[in-house]
Amino acid sequence: MTKRTFGVIGLAVMGENLALNVESRGFPIAVYNRTASKTEEFMATKAQGKDIKPAYSLEEFVQTLERPRKILVMVKAGAPVDAVIQQLKPLLEEGDMIIDGGNSLYEDTERRTNELEPTGLGFMGMGVSGGEEGALHGPSLMPGGTASAYQELEPILTKIAAQVDDGPCVTYIGPRGAGHYVKMVHNGIEYGDMQLIAEAYDLLKKGLNLSNEQLHEVFADWNQTDELNSFLIEITADIFRKKDDQTDGHLIDYILDSAGQKGTGRWTVVSSLELGVPIPTIYAAVNARVISGYKDERISASKELTGITGKFDGDVNEYINKIRDALYCSKMCSYAQGMALIAKASAEYDYNINLPEVARIWKGGCIIKAGFLGKINKAFSDNPSLPNLLLAPEFKQSILDRQQAWRDVLILANSLGIPIPAFSASLDYFDSYRSDRLPQNLTQAQRDYFGAHTYERTDKPRGEFFHTEWMQG
Ligand code: NAP
Repeated sequence: MTKRTFGVIGLAVMGENLALNVESRGFPIAVYNRTASKTEEFMATKAQGKDIKPAYSLEEFVQTLERPRKILVMVKAGAPVDAVIQQLKPLLEEGDMIIDGGNSLYEDTERRTNELEPTGLGFMGMGVSGGEEGALHGPSLMPGGTASAYQELEPILTKIAAQVDDGPCVTYIGPRGAGHYVKMVHNGIEYGDMQLIAEAYDLLKKGLNLSNEQLHEVFADWNQTDELNSFLIEITADIFRKKDDQTDGHLIDYILDSAGQKGTGRWTVVSSLELGVPIPTIYAAVNARVISGYKDERISASKELTGITGKFDGDVNEYINKIRDALYCSKMCSYAQGMALIAKASAEYDYNINLPEVARIWKGGCIIKAGFLGKINKAFSDNPSLPNLLLAPEFKQSILDRQQAWRDVLILANSLGIPIPAFSASLDYFDSYRSDRLPQNLTQAQRDYFGAHTYERTDKPRGEFFHTEWMQG
């Protein structure tokens, strides 16, 4: 049998679908999974009749691959990735390359690259977005790692990635953990988007009293607009139409309001704190999932902490439009925060990330794909040192024009007692960023008062520090 061009280890949902995707582009492949029955099942079902060779040991798997070997590892992130690498290492030869396509922490990818590159093996940490469907039909790929390995892989990656008007949704992100870093922030933005959409839903449902049918209409309409057209708005519209198969109602009303998370949102927040980049919208989104998990406690508290139960008496259509505008402005804050974080990490870790390219490869295949990514691409192409997306000509006026509606929505939510942590965090981000004077003069005075931490003066050059003996006369 001729040698295989590409190998996939890990046949859970992502590995299976990526294997099928690669095979469908004309590359003969080999697959391996730790549990052999999973491989047998895959071969007997989805892989039947395809040019896919199963292997039941790693030795056999490695022997079937042409050199330099290209091996995609799609196993659970964390220790399993290290376990697979350790098992593979003695079987591979110089120039062979391992691609970790899971949601690995970028710091783990840095460590693995540092361990593998000196041995002559290529290593890539590749973010894969698009879920099950994307993996099968065309994901957005964020590969980072050994540059020469990327060149070897490029002909395959450009074929399996989603295709948009300006090319395949893949680009070499940068060395070491750069690809997984960008994927992590992609997921952080995804958290922000999802929470903002959830808050808009809450306002429309609890505040404006819309039915599920009306919610479907509203989100379907919003998906037709330049501002909000996106994968997440599209699936949200679909969700409100889905009937429950166990009752007469809609499924959405029977789903427990307690959200899970796997870690990429939290990692984004941790990294932002380490790098000193404010990402309050994303942070609020992570916290919103955390507090949603306190379901039992919230039920008890709801009986004791009785609050405002105001009633909306405004114009429903007017407020639907205001909520749309608030959602757009808040989403822009979330993307602005994510892009600022990537820019800072790129400088700090020498990733040399091309921001316009990042926006371009998110235009298709991925969960945060949105109509306005083309504009984000243009904003950073026109001005590579743009300090914040909110200042880009493509976005600035559109946000200023919607500012009043955004504020009106926050007032409405507060008056009705509806929590909107991500909307609020976004407006606070906007107001903080545009404030030439913040109250941290007082913070500095307090720090100097109790800890002699010193302060700078507004009437003296920056970098000159002063201390006052606050308790003396
Ligand atoms: P998963 O549930 O995260 O992982 C299951 C796979 O890992 C199985 O093939 C399992 O093999 C293998 N595995 C676990 N521990 C192992 C070990 N110690 N040694 C060898 N193999 C081991 O699968 P997934 O949902 O397809 O995700 C794969 C990766 O892609 C993850 O990092 C995930 O975060 C990332 N990702 C997932 C999505 C998504 O939508 N699901 C989207 C983007 C990225 P056995 O069958 O032998 O147990």
